[in-house]
Amino acid sequence: MSQHVIGFSYILKDKEGKVLESSAQGKPIFFLEGTKQIIPHLENELVNLKKGDKKEITVPYQAAYGPYDPNQVYKVARSKFPTGITIKEGDMFEIGKDNNRGVVTVIELGEAEITLDVNHPLAGQDLAFDVEIMEHREATSEEILHGHVHGQEGQHS
Ligand code: ZN
Repeated sequence: MSQHVIGFSYILKDKEGKVLESSAQGKPIFFLEGTKQIIPHLENELVNLKKGDKKEITVPYQAAYGPYDPNQVYKVARSKFPTGITIKEGDMFEIGKDNNRGVVTVIELGEAEITLDVNHPLAGQDLAFDVEIMEHREATSEEILHGHVHGQEGQHS
């Protein structure tokens, strides 16, 4: 079975229609089929589309960033934070490293404690992707061997 290379542009919205993020203008996202470079649910839909196709694809939260877990909210003493930094509600910090990296959101600032939410910012949210297929071709044998797409900016060819 051959593998395909797909390039697509997208606009990601939440279920109220608010734009959360999008691919940069003129810079589609490329991936090699079957290498888990994007959300599997999205990949399964994209591989069935042709170049030029547009579609709105909804990914339920269970297939995206998982459910929102209220137990992933913690109160941390202010004294545990470095002095001299300004913290505001809504601030996000990256914590951990490598495969344990995550984003923490400050949800409340108390006198003595700061409440942090460790859930992924998109946890519990169904995601709506407006996609357009910019490229859909067979992968070269070299791409399959390497496990990634060649010929894009910043990648070797
Ligand atoms: Zn390569």
